[in-house]
Amino acid sequence: MRIPRLALMAGALASVLFAGTAHAATVSAPAYKPALAKSPIYKTGKLDLGTCDDPEVTTGTLEEVKGYLDTVLDCLNAAWEPKIKKAGFAFSKPSLQVITKPGAPTGCGAYPAEAQALYCSLNKKITFLLSANLVDEQSDLMLLAVLAHEYGHHIQQQTGMFKALNSYSGMSQARQLDVLRRFELQAECLAGAFVGNVWHSLNRRQTEWDYIVKNGGSGFDLSVIGVKVESWGEMTHGKAANVARWLKRGFAAESAGGCNTWTAPKSHVS
Ligand SMILES: [Zn+2]
Repeated sequence: MRIPRLALMAGALASVLFAGTAHAATVSAPAYKPALAKSPIYKTGKLDLGTCDDPEVTTGTLEEVKGYLDTVLDCLNAAWEPKIKKAGFAFSKPSLQVITKPGAPTGCGAYPAEAQALYCSLNKKITFLLSANLVDEQSDLMLLAVLAHEYGHHIQQQTGMFKALNSYSGMSQARQLDVLRRFELQAECLAGAFVGNVWHSLNRRQTEWDYIVKNGGSGFDLSVIGVKVESWGEMTHGKAANVARWLKRGFAAESAGGCNTWTAPKSHVS
C-alpha cells in the first residue's frame, strides 16, 4: 500500500493561528475557553448514522473521485447535522471543491503546494487537492479519512471553536502551538468518531484503518483562519503516537464526547 505522501512529509506549510512574537512562557496550567473545553457538542452522544455508502472507485478519474467524495460528504452531513443541532447550534453544510493543481482560490487565499486538503472557515469550504498520485491510489481509505478530518474542522466552525481561538492571539509561540495541536488532534478524533460509527457498513479491511492510524492519520492539512507561517507538521498536528491515540479514541467512542482534547494532559497533545 502506498505510504501517504503527506503523512510522512516532515515540513508542511501549516497554518498557525496567529501572528505574534514569543513572550515569556507562563507557569500556570493552561485553561481553555468554554467554547473549546466545555462545548455542548461533547454531550450529544453517539452518532446515529451507522451506515454510509462507500462506493468502489475503479477508474480513478477526477469525476469519479469527486463523486466518491460527494457521497461521503453526504454521510458526514447526515451524521453530524443532528448532533450540531442537538448541541444548540445552527447547522449549514460545507461546500467541497476538488482541484488538481495548487494555486486555486479557496476563500482563504491561494491553495498552497504543500497541503493535501484545506478547510476555510470564512466560506466553510473544503478544498481537496487530487494529485495524480492520489488518484492512482483511489482505493485508499485515505480519501475518506482526509475528508472526515476536514469535516472535523467544519464541526469546530459550526460550534464556535474557530472563533474562540482568537483569544489566544498574541500568546507565546509554544502556547499557540499547543492550541493548534489540540485543535488538529480534535479534528482527527472527530474523523475517527465518524469512521468508527460507519465502519461495519464500509467495505474495508481492518488493516486499512490500522494503516491510517499507524501512519499519522490524515496527514497535514491546513485549517486556515489566520496568518500562515512555515512550520513543522508535527509541531502543529501532533506526534504520530498522539494522532493514533485520538483517532482510536474517536473510533471507539463514535461520538464527539471522546474528543475533548482541551482537557487532555499535555503529553497527549504533544
Ligand atoms: Zn486539520
